[in-house]
Amino acid sequence: MLSVVSLPNYRRLNLQKTNLQNMQNTQNSVMVRVHEIALKGKNRPLFFDQLERNLRQALRGMAVEQVRNRHMGVEITLAPEAPWDEIAKRIKQVFGVVKFYRYHRVTPSMEAIKEFLESELTKLTFSTFRITAKRGNKSFPLTSPEMNQELGAFVQQLTGAKVNLKQAEVNVFVEVLPGEALLYFEETTGPGGLPVGTGGKVAVLLSGGIDSPVAAWRMMKRGCQVLLVHFHSFPLVDGSSREKAIELVELLNLYQFRSTLLLVPFADVQREIILSVPPAYRVVIYRRFMTRIAERLAIEHGAKALVTGESLGQVGSQTLDNLVTVRNAVTMPILSPLIGMDKQEIIGEARHIDTYPISILPDEDCCTLFVPKHPVTRSTPEEVERLEEALDIPALIESAMSQVEIKHFTRDGVSSERSSVGVG
Ligand code: ATP
Ligand code: MG
Repeated sequence: MLSVVSLPNYRRLNLQKTNLQNMQNTQNSVMVRVHEIALKGKNRPLFFDQLERNLRQALRGMAVEQVRNRHMGVEITLAPEAPWDEIAKRIKQVFGVVKFYRYHRVTPSMEAIKEFLESELTKLTFSTFRITAKRGNKSFPLTSPEMNQELGAFVQQLTGAKVNLKQAEVNVFVEVLPGEALLYFEETTGPGGLPVGTGGKVAVLLSGGIDSPVAAWRMMKRGCQVLLVHFHSFPLVDGSSREKAIELVELLNLYQFRSTLLLVPFADVQREIILSVPPAYRVVIYRRFMTRIAERLAIEHGAKALVTGESLGQVGSQTLDNLVTVRNAVTMPILSPLIGMDKQEIIGEARHIDTYPISILPDEDCCTLFVPKHPVTRSTPEEVERLEEALDIPALIESAMSQVEIKHFTRDGVSSERSSVGVG
């Protein structure tokens, strides 16, 4: 038999949704839940403090009254006028948050919980529901399954609706904690990871391409503050890669609130390389110079490792041999969080963080300058070092370092600009 949803039913569902939203809107307490942070033992307070600071930063100007550590989570108290949609969007950009919800607070007793459910659920029309109860206070007399059973039977009797664990129209969450019980009807998934600022600082080599912004995001997700370094060959090529790097950092900054982008002119270095290095070896030597300059900048800015968007074998310059040759130019560790990912997986993440549309805009990237279609795939550090003997490496590095342009990004999108003169 065909089952057709009649118009009145549609109406009922919509009405119900509105009712639920209205119920939620009266709530000014938000609980943020974590996972990995809770497992941190002695260091846990450090992670919670950073998470709190990051939530405050993310929610600046959003009518937030208080952010504090409670019940192994972070509680956010909102003023009545706080714009919930924007707040939820911003919490979703704070690493360390596993999930969050607006809740109602009641006395931690079955009577009080039932009384609250009766007052709220009888305003709604629904035919299926689910209770998800959790006993966070072990001295509460009922276990979580016992609460599920008792509250399930209560709601069923009260409303005539049936329990559906897979696809319930109304979800009731009950969390019993010391001194209070939290009740809520909807929870939102956060990005997970660790709070930015707990993992030290790294310098990401940011091209205008698809991969390196994703690499930067992944490092932030593991708690690192990222310094962004972009090499451009303006005026040998147009300034498009530089513009893209700026736009990408604006997006990445949503996750770390404060970012620095170093724009490094690379044209002079490339001119010298082109004069003495055969075309097939240019890409790998460009990369070694970028890496050397980035290492210097990283040290200057307090970053402990370099990060690239390399993925093993993705293109000829990313064979294992070439990765080794490039890494041989510096002593600082180079992390490549995408090393084992397929292009499609990386594109999926780039879409998820919205960098993809910027990354695919056409640009004139410095690494495509004066290089053949098929560069060498099996370089060795020794042969490349021989080719580099014709170059004054320290002078080229110093010259690039002295022309670095610095841009500061804040959450308000304000960016200041200055040139660092005589660095090194
Ligand atoms: P991406 O999409 O990040 O550009 P890709 O697959 O195009 O990566 P390559 O162009 O070979 O790979 O670059 C490898 C890595 O070298 C990049 O992920 C990035 O970390 C770094 N890189 C390349 N070009 C630049 C640049 N102009 N400025 C800074 N870093 C760069
Ligand atoms: Mg690229």
